Amino acid sequence: MIVIVKPDATAAQLEQLLGRIRELGLTPMVSQGAERTVVGLIGDERLVSDGVLESLPAVEQVMPILKPYKLVSREFKKTDSIVEVRGIPFGGPEIQVIAGPCSVETAEQMRKAAEAVRAAGCRLMRGGAFKPRTSPYTFQGVGDEGLDFFREAADAYDLPIVTELMDVRKIDVFLEKKVDVIQIGTRNMQNFDLLKEVGRLNVPVILKRGMSATIKEWLMAAEYIAAHGNHRIIFAERGIRTFETQYRNVLDVTAIPVLKKETHLPVIVDPSHAGGKAALVAPLAKAAIAAGADGLLIESHPCPEEAWCDADQALSPEQLTQLMGELRRVAEAIGRTL
Ligand code: PEP
Ligand code: MN
Repeated sequence: MIVIVKPDATAAQLEQLLGRIRELGLTPMVSQGAERTVVGLIGDERLVSDGVLESLPAVEQVMPILKPYKLVSREFKKTDSIVEVRGIPFGGPEIQVIAGPCSVETAEQMRKAAEAVRAAGCRLMRGGAFKPRTSPYTFQGVGDEGLDFFREAADAYDLPIVTELMDVRKIDVFLEKKVDVIQIGTRNMQNFDLLKEVGRLNVPVILKRGMSATIKEWLMAAEYIAAHGNHRIIFAERGIRTFETQYRNVLDVTAIPVLKKETHLPVIVDPSHAGGKAALVAPLAKAAIAAGADGLLIESHPCPEEAWCDADQALSPEQLTQLMGELRRVAEAIGRTL
């Protein structure tokens, strides 16, 4: 359930409400909106008998949340949430593009990649130091050292870094290297222990959709993160599995408006892993922006044919720059900026 707080409630009255909720054995989650404050109750709601909260001076209304996902739902918070990454807003009128290689390879490759990402006008950089590969015999990522290359290259161009976390044992290294956004990949969307641990951090999280996950399962995975205290979640649609084999995955464009209706959190799209081919990235990226996505996650490489991973889908620096120009016009057409 959620408690709507009276607009004129004092700080002391709000504290009294939070204290009462804790006494009942539940955890209060406060969401401070521009117009109103609401408090979500986490725990066994049967412990709250009728009228016990309504009688408090801070309380305007107590309402059940009917959806199984609560903190991430629009029922909990009507207005769009902005997730800021070092001052860069996700979820507002400005569309954010994150670009960079599939995997971190060398210091030189990351320097060139960062230069191209910045020159194209993207505001954040991606790159995996730990790669979830289908085969145990293929390149698994350069590991901890890669985070150093990445950090150095991105810092030189003032780009926050986005990188995938697969293992809870790497959280300390991620914090030490000051990873700006933790990516949870498609294969780990329902790794609930990983989600719980990421939920305890104060670091923004990109939660990719499981390749065979329903929208409800995806929202529930985000709820795991939020329920453990981290509300800085960005959803990323990256294509799903269907009967079609002509391309890597099917970009579920419909998921964008559906998710925007179900959640107050930002939604971005990864057209690279959806299409799996460089030539498909631009049309899918444009479709995503037109459908209301708040940002894009794009694979680019200083020299795509030499990429150690996902070479077929990487954009060259020139292709990335051209795409950014085209996307700017699509954004403008729907009243947004890029
Ligand atoms: C990636 O972004 O590098 C990646 C592995 O993506 P996904 O989890 O969507 O396959
Ligand atoms: Mn990739």
